Amino acid sequence: MQVLKFGGTSVASAENIAKSCDIGLRALENGPVVMVVSALGGTTDALIKAGRAAAEGNLAYQDILQELEQRHLTAAEELQLPPAPLDTATAVITDGFLELHRLCDGIASLQELSSRTLDRLVSYGELLSSQLVELHFHSFWLDTAWADARQLIRTNSRFGNAEVDIATTSRLVKEFQALHPGDSWIVPGFIAADAHGNTTTLGRGGSDYTAALLAAALDAEKLEIWTDVSGMMTADPRLVRSARPIARISYQEAMELSHFGAKVLYPPTIQPVMKRGIPLWIKNTFAPDDYGTLVEVAPPRAATVVQGISSIGNLTLLNLEGSGMVGIPGFSKRLFEALARERINVILITQSSSEHSICVGVNAQDAAPAQVAVDEEFATEIAAGRIEPLRPERDLAIVALVGENMKDHPGISGKLFGALGQNGVNIRAIAQGASEKNISTVIRAQDVRKAINVLHEAFFEATKKQVNLFILGPGNVGSKLLEQLARQQPHLLEKLGLQVRVVAIANSRHCLVDENGLDLTAWPEELAQASAQTLAEFKELIISRNLRNSIFVDVTANPATADIYADLLAKSVAVVACNKVAASSDYAHYAQLKSLSKEFNASYLFETNVGAALPVIGTLNDLTRSGDVVRRMEAVLSGTLNFVFNNYDGSRPFAEVVRQAQAEGYTEPDPRLDLSGTDVARKILILAREAGEVMEMADIKIEGFLPPACLEGDVEAFYAQMAAHEAHFKALYDAATSAGKRLKFVARYADGHAAVGLQQIASGHDLYDLRGKDNVVLFYTDRYVEQPLVVKGAGAGAEVTASGVFADIIRAARL
Ligand code: ADP
Ligand code: ASP
Ligand code: MG
Repeated sequence: MQVLKFGGTSVASAENIAKSCDIGLRALENGPVVMVVSALGGTTDALIKAGRAAAEGNLAYQDILQELEQRHLTAAEELQLPPAPLDTATAVITDGFLELHRLCDGIASLQELSSRTLDRLVSYGELLSSQLVELHFHSFWLDTAWADARQLIRTNSRFGNAEVDIATTSRLVKEFQALHPGDSWIVPGFIAADAHGNTTTLGRGGSDYTAALLAAALDAEKLEIWTDVSGMMTADPRLVRSARPIARISYQEAMELSHFGAKVLYPPTIQPVMKRGIPLWIKNTFAPDDYGTLVEVAPPRAATVVQGISSIGNLTLLNLEGSGMVGIPGFSKRLFEALARERINVILITQSSSEHSICVGVNAQDAAPAQVAVDEEFATEIAAGRIEPLRPERDLAIVALVGENMKDHPGISGKLFGALGQNGVNIRAIAQGASEKNISTVIRAQDVRKAINVLHEAFFEATKKQVNLFILGPGNVGSKLLEQLARQQPHLLEKLGLQVRVVAIANSRHCLVDENGLDLTAWPEELAQASAQTLAEFKELIISRNLRNSIFVDVTANPATADIYADLLAKSVAVVACNKVAASSDYAHYAQLKSLSKEFNASYLFETNVGAALPVIGTLNDLTRSGDVVRRMEAVLSGTLNFVFNNYDGSRPFAEVVRQAQAEGYTEPDPRLDLSGTDVARKILILAREAGEVMEMADIKIEGFLPPACLEGDVEAFYAQMAAHEAHFKALYDAATSAGKRLKFVARYADGHAAVGLQQIASGHDLYDLRGKDNVVLFYTDRYVEQPLVVKGAGAGAEVTASGVFADIIRAARL
């Protein structure tokens, strides 16, 4: 015999029932089949809902039943059965629902729903679906019998999750087989009966188990679980988009995965077939030609170290702690006995080697009774202060790596911790069986999606890493950055294995979000119509989305945004800032951001703060990291001032040249920051700090060249005042030219002191020959004593600045 089980979706409608029957009919080529079927998808949930409503006296149960009945009748009709079987189907369904109504009326009048009644109630789901399938199948294949599972599978009377009496079940199955030689059977899954003939059920998802029990009793050639995915997958496909089917897997591994949450297989299913070595296939009803998964004794060695990742939510950790436990035998025995007495299933156990604490993971709904039972058991010790009362920790989940190969590979836990740590996922407890088939971590429930995806990437997608960007300020630089990103996305994926997605774009008013990645061509129009959002809300959005490898990109010049960096870094969100405010703010703030970045393993990068895309900070960091000491720096750091002094020769007013610089995008949004020297001062401050100096903005001497009147009033007044002082600028220019020199606005740092100011530079000097908006930095260090290390090139402009931000994003992404 072959046993084929069809799940809820596989029989959810007439169309699907027909597909499932086709699969069953095709299998007949290899001999008779046993088809085990679930209830029409969603029926069990609906019946439970109806029962609960009835128990509360809520008449909504009638509508629920009516709707369900209609669904069944429609399925029967659409199956296009011949007239006689159609009549039978209709009668079976209407009779069934009559009984269901009666049952629910009874529940409503008693206002009580026992687990025994609930089992009777839900059994109709499988009873009806299996009869429907049988009528359809029978119209193609006469040697077919409907078998009532309640006469085949014997259990105890633990309603809701009954335990199977294997020996009796095996005998009953064989007796049925003797009465129906050569027939194929259609059997309702999930349901069974106790010794008194009461209907019981095998637990939610239990149809898989029914099929396995029959396969074992019949010593079937194979068991096939037909469902709505193409096999057991490397992770829950609802959580991980890139999850893929596992072609071959051992019983042990499949058991671990299903125990730890891979819903595709009900955990008890494996035991009966494993005992007899019956091959178990998981196949897709909707893609029957897909290979699926073969679960067997000894699959070929998998190509990956980890076979799959699964998770269980709804976990509570219970900590038993106290000095009174150390070295005294029997504590864990008493703990587990207390839990066992309450029939509490322990999902995970860890114990510190100091024996100072034992920690067990249980289902959230078991936590309260567990706490009572354990506190009672240890009442004397607790009263004597030798043990603390049990401390529950809620809203947790387990994420487990499963794979037999793990035992031969060092570094798996390291990789696991590294990947989770980098994404700010805190591990509350770990457990690893000595067999090393499973490494389980307990984390916060809200981190599960992120954790599984991060781990899936780390263990299955060595070649791909998803990066999620939140971009604030799509102005001059920001929009260029988005253009560059759009252009480079395919290249990044192919060459660097980075799937860079822009999840949100926000300006000071609106925010556009798409967790699957925004379309980078349509955003300008969409952003204008997007919903309003404040900066605080944007920060909350980044944190609450909790996406892996998140990077916040600040392309504003707004002082307020610098205030959100700390909170983001503390959530392991990387920060890439074009905005100089944070790095040049109070030293304490700068230092705090640096230390958060280290502590939470999240990059804080701001290369474009100095010299746009020029590798200035990167070079400086490389020097200091490799042990060099920066003694002196001399630099021209203002693309704006360079542009202005390179273009000003007295033939056009100074103010006009400044205006051109602003129009061409070489100035800060407020050009006074450039012309006053403040911007250059911020840059040398940042360089000095990166060189290891503890320095504040006030420590920098700013030797301005503007007449004081220029800095009073607004930007327009600033232009007017510059025009009025044209003679002043002309005089500065003439003085330099007559000495054969050029004017440069120079930043200097040496021996803990820094200053910025306008200087006349003689030809031949490293700073003399600078064109356009070029920047140059000269580093004098212990290694570069006589001749400085020079970094030189375009230091302003939206396109280059954007490319610098881009480079920082890639740096943060590859950490
Ligand atoms: P059926 O009704 O056929 O028994 P289930 O809903 O019980 O189907 O199980 C199949 C579902 O299990 C899939 O649709 C998928 O969403 C979910 N699932 C969770 N983890 C996994 C996994 N590791 N591999 C495959 N499916 C999984
Ligand atoms: N119908 C039952 C459930 O939904 C059993 C099953 O589908 O396996 O739990
Ligand atoms: Mg199932």
